Amino acid sequence: MKDKYRAIVIGGGVVGCSVLYHLAKAGWKDILLIERSELTSGSSWHAAGGFHTLNGDPNVAKLQAYTVSLYKELEELSGQKCGLHLTGGAMMADSPERMDFLRHTHAKGRYLGMSTEIITPREVKKMFPLLDESHFVGALWDPVEGHLDPSGTTHAYAKSAKILGAELSLRNRVVELNQNSDGVWNVVTEKGTIQAEHVVNAGGLWAREVGRMVGLELPLLAMEHHYILTDEIPEIVEFNDRTGKETIHVIDFKGEIYTRQEQKGVLLGTYEQACEPWSPIETPWNFGHELLEPNLERISPSLEVGFKHFPPLEKVGIKKMINGPFTFAPDGNPLIGPVPGLTNFWSACAVMAGFSQGGGVGLALSNWMIEGDPGHDIFGMDVARFGDFATLRYTNAKVRENYSRRFRISFPNEELEAGRPHQTTPIYDLLIKKNAVMGNSWGLENALWFAPNGKEAKDILSFHRSNDFQSIKKEVLSVRKSVGITEISNFAKYKVSGSDAESWLSEMMTNIMPKVGSIILTPMLNEFGKLIGDFTIAQIRKNVFYIWGSQNAQKHHMRWFNNHLSGSEALTLECIDLNLVGLSIAGPKSRNVLQKLVDTDISNENFKFMRLKRMDVSGAPCIVNRITFTGDLGYEIWMEPSYQRNVYLALKSAGEEFNITDFGTRALLSMRLEKNFPTWGHELRPIYGPYEGSLDRFIKLDKNTFIGSNAARLENQSGPKLKRVSFVIDADDDADVMGDEPIWAKVPKGKFTSAVTEANDPGPSRFDENGKTFSKTQNNTSDGEWNVVGWVTSGGYGHFVDLSLAQGYIPYSLFKEHKDIEFQIEILGKRYNSKISVDPLFDPSGSVMRG
Ligand SMILES: Cc1cc2nc3c(=O)[nH]c(=O)nc-3n(C[C@H](O)[C@H](O)[C@H](O)COP(=O)(O)OP(=O)(O)OC[C@H]3O[C@@H](n4cnc5c(N)ncnc54)[C@H](O)[C@@H]3O)c2cc1C
Repeated sequence: MKDKYRAIVIGGGVVGCSVLYHLAKAGWKDILLIERSELTSGSSWHAAGGFHTLNGDPNVAKLQAYTVSLYKELEELSGQKCGLHLTGGAMMADSPERMDFLRHTHAKGRYLGMSTEIITPREVKKMFPLLDESHFVGALWDPVEGHLDPSGTTHAYAKSAKILGAELSLRNRVVELNQNSDGVWNVVTEKGTIQAEHVVNAGGLWAREVGRMVGLELPLLAMEHHYILTDEIPEIVEFNDRTGKETIHVIDFKGEIYTRQEQKGVLLGTYEQACEPWSPIETPWNFGHELLEPNLERISPSLEVGFKHFPPLEKVGIKKMINGPFTFAPDGNPLIGPVPGLTNFWSACAVMAGFSQGGGVGLALSNWMIEGDPGHDIFGMDVARFGDFATLRYTNAKVRENYSRRFRISFPNEELEAGRPHQTTPIYDLLIKKNAVMGNSWGLENALWFAPNGKEAKDILSFHRSNDFQSIKKEVLSVRKSVGITEISNFAKYKVSGSDAESWLSEMMTNIMPKVGSIILTPMLNEFGKLIGDFTIAQIRKNVFYIWGSQNAQKHHMRWFNNHLSGSEALTLECIDLNLVGLSIAGPKSRNVLQKLVDTDISNENFKFMRLKRMDVSGAPCIVNRITFTGDLGYEIWMEPSYQRNVYLALKSAGEEFNITDFGTRALLSMRLEKNFPTWGHELRPIYGPYEGSLDRFIKLDKNTFIGSNAARLENQSGPKLKRVSFVIDADDDADVMGDEPIWAKVPKGKFTSAVTEANDPGPSRFDENGKTFSKTQNNTSDGEWNVVGWVTSGGYGHFVDLSLAQGYIPYSLFKEHKDIEFQIEILGKRYNSKISVDPLFDPSGSVMRG
């Protein structure tokens, strides 16, 4: 061990070893992993070792596929076996709703190049003889599932890293972390103090404690987790003898259990409802290679279902029962990346499926440390995706909820209840009185839609059109025909001021900054010319700019802004957060309503589209922006929270004569679809370029150089590979798209490469049929003349135009010939004819908005 390293990784579990391996593989030399005990001394040693590629977030799924593809490389390099068993696996559906979920997952898998199949319970039984198929209606088969030896795999990462020059220091706890003024970290260990340029927290069960060494409270919590190992089962032995094969992995959603063969019996794990956090406040340092006391009673409801669904289990003895802790973030995905507010301190924590995700986490984090960018769309895993609202108790509530829902259906219209209400604005109770169905918007309660009087304000969960449909229609029609009011507090807001504000913003953003009193829309790019933000910016008075952006990217964007501050004293950046709250009124009568409450002339001549003014609204000092996301004439009104209640009541009263209607986020999103407006996180993400995202008019290549301008120029010159398009779907009146559906086109295979290839995405690597080698395949994407050419990013019903709508990406080359091409979009296993709609269906000329 030397006294100085380029990077120190704290933690020798599967994740820390993967980070070390990927840094070494990328060529970093002076790198050290410090482990307080032996390798695998946290969760890693007692894991069940299962791996799979499916994940609700396609971007996380890609990194899981990468992880699985890595094991062969590790075995070859290190000579250490990972103990791979590639058995394949089936997810069992016991209800039509679960079948919808599996069909949606299968369709999503198409554009990810996954070879999943919908199969019958009888077919599953042929591969898993313990199953009583009468309890199930269908299944999703994924050939790329299996299990491995957790300890062997962790050592394979570590050995490979050592071969590539990395060092390990075992039985050496990091006890303190201090940073010098020059940014160098002093890593105080039991064996002395070592200096490092970069520190990675891969502390697993102790990640919170390592975080606390630098003043952080990371939103993660360990949960107890049980699995049992049974004695020999005759049906398994008979199957092995007859087929020469191992049985497959099975997930039984109803029983909330997973099971697979282990020796001549099975391993069966539960995600039980009566789940228990472990050490919720602090993880003891003296916890080592030990297990927790099993609690058979807690998991017995799951086992009872398991005995019914897999009858031979009832007759077999339990050989061993494991109860061990592992960590989760509130949404169950890892927390990775540079920690906001600190320099060169990196998080690789809360990896709940280290053997499915560890490789991807190591790859993305090492890219980020070396190149300044993760190289993948990892927003769903970014440590900056949670704000300060994710406190210890909030995290506790959310992690328990997430754990107990691991094998539950996630419906597209589902809002999770735990930890709510957490943050509310002053009009919360007024909206509740109006029968608002609330959703969670980054910790803040937000109205989604308004249920009719006398009806319970609650979503009926479904993959199909549900009980909100008619109410949303009513809200949309009220806006489009008269006037509606909605709360818009759930935006991120920033203030940039000082004489250097304009030049700094102009280097950060693609558009020309607005003059005083004007508003612009602008994307933000990274150095690679990919979309990392989409903002509305106004100059309210000389050198004072307000910025509105996506709320859930607030911490992520503040990290980017802070990292790019020039150091100039003539520049101040402020995150306003909920110190500014908003209301929006939209519709042809919105001007009449607002005019009643202000002393300024707001006629079109005096207050044009894309302008802003400071004005008193019903006596409250406000900033009013003439802009709406609905595409109508309308206004966004911003104020301090203390005024919001009165302004809301005044607007409602002034609008009474026009039947002003409350509308929620779902109506807003329906109306933006009719205008072909994209949304951040769906259409706009770091895997797309600005021309691909059809944001051409906001990219000003002739102004000053801005971050990403060279790459954007190149994209413009060589032509984008993809194109964001809007579709009208000839859907029946049952279901609309939810996002991630495949787009099919009737084109000869090979004439157009699919959007997956065009996106230059590495795509998931695959095992070949014999399971021995790995290869990249694109299965499930062809059906005679019809081929999968792209994917849906979002959609729903356009209530004013009365059409089912979607947005998504297809290859640009295909877009150029789209008039002669037939398209179909697959919804819940059924393909519907679809047409590209280049112009917005509502107000294509924009005259309504400008009027
Ligand atoms: C019962 C059970 C079954 C599971 N089954 C599966 C499965 O089937 N598939 C799957 O993918 N995952 C499974 N998991 C989850 C899996 O174990 C974790 O995702 C994984 O182990 C996390 O690895 P890690 O490296 O992040 O953390 P850990 O394994 O906890 O490693 C962290 C390491 O950091 C060290 N450390 C911490 N602080 C310090 C310090 N200050 N100084 C030095 N060293 C420090 C610790 O000693 C420890 O070795 C299971 C977990 C359990 C408990």
